Amino acid sequence: MRVDEFRTGLRAWLDEHDLRPVHDGGLDGELAQLSRVRRALFEAGWMRRGWPEHAGGLGGPVILRAVLGEEVMARNLADPGLYTLIEVLAPTLIRYGSPDAVAFVPTLLAGEETWCQGFSEPGAGSDLAALSTRAVRDGDAWVIEGQKVWTSLAQFAERCVLLARTGGPGHRGISAFLMDMDSPGITVRPIKTMHGRDEFAEVFLDGVRVPAARMLGAEGQGWEIAMSILPDERSSCFWQRITYLYTRLDRLLAEAPAASERQIGEAYLDLHAVRSRSRLTQHRRDRGETLGAETSIDKVLLATAEQCLYDTAREALPGVVEYGSSSWQEEYLYSRAATIYGGTAEIQRNIIAKRLLSLGDE
Ligand SMILES: Cc1cc2nc3c(=O)[nH]c(=O)nc-3n(C[C@H](O)[C@H](O)[C@H](O)COP(=O)(O)OP(=O)(O)OC[C@H]3O[C@@H](n4cnc5c(N)ncnc54)[C@H](O)[C@@H]3O)c2cc1C
Repeated sequence: MRVDEFRTGLRAWLDEHDLRPVHDGGLDGELAQLSRVRRALFEAGWMRRGWPEHAGGLGGPVILRAVLGEEVMARNLADPGLYTLIEVLAPTLIRYGSPDAVAFVPTLLAGEETWCQGFSEPGAGSDLAALSTRAVRDGDAWVIEGQKVWTSLAQFAERCVLLARTGGPGHRGISAFLMDMDSPGITVRPIKTMHGRDEFAEVFLDGVRVPAARMLGAEGQGWEIAMSILPDERSSCFWQRITYLYTRLDRLLAEAPAASERQIGEAYLDLHAVRSRSRLTQHRRDRGETLGAETSIDKVLLATAEQCLYDTAREALPGVVEYGSSSWQEEYLYSRAATIYGGTAEIQRNIIAKRLLSLGDE
């Protein structure tokens, strides 16, 4: 199916099927809305386009997924962060997972499940290769001991893409798993973000048994798998987020008609820069190119544009962030996380300097 044909058909379908949110806010409501949107789009086939058939899709160009995300965000049908999680985890799971693991992808597409990403630990964030959660083989299972932190949506998730150490120190000793979150031995303790939501959590793993067939890739291939997930987390999942940010810029123009051209111009230029960059990335992915270190540029541009937009809102709507009760305050606070999640701004700049510009060690 061609992009223009897909977009025209999708728009007509969305005009006929009212999927606007009916919830009254809050994370539970937003997750329920996301499930509702995904289920409807899956049943109508839109959500399956661009995904391989063996993972529950209908095949076709990968770029159709970005077009779908764009149309969903332009109508504000789902939270952009929640919507994009599938683009972060599912492509790598399909690439490396056993048939047993890949069989779960349709549950994500159809909005039946939520997944989380168990990478960061109290002693391993930027230095992810230092992670110390251990997995030890015991018969036909791996037994996991350790702790994860900042695991987004862990308390809602049915499954977790988990990194654990199966070998010696460093990145070569790491393996990846698809772990069921209702396995005995998992304790999830939600953490409140500064924008007031229990969005991420500490996850304690105490003798958790994960079947051997749920290892992703081979033993010791976990770093390679993480390096496949991170470029998606730092680039290809942004297309819909950028559309969402444009809807916020439109809202700002409507609510602050007296905002200066300089204020609005800066926010617009930053958004336009990341959209242009992201368009290139979407097309590269569509051509089947492997994404890598260059996606750190997308991540820096996205974080810069998002923070500039909300800084502009704060300036143009005095008091709305400090004293307001509108969503500007919550969104402003969340925008501060854009330079942290998926790898901090400093780490992205290190990657750009070292790997892309060959400027040597930091
Ligand atoms: C909203 C949100 C959601 C998240 N969701 C998840 C999730 O679902 N799963 C998950 O696994 N993790 C998640 N994270 C965690 C995120 O990946 C980490 O916070 C991030 O990688 C940074 O690690 P850290 O917090 O341990 O900070 P640290 O690595 O301790 O860094 C602290 C500071 O030191 C700087 N720094 C560290 N090393 C260097 C260096 N070499 N050069 C220059 N500066 C350096 C950093 O830039 C940062 O400013 C989430 C974080 C946020 C904010």
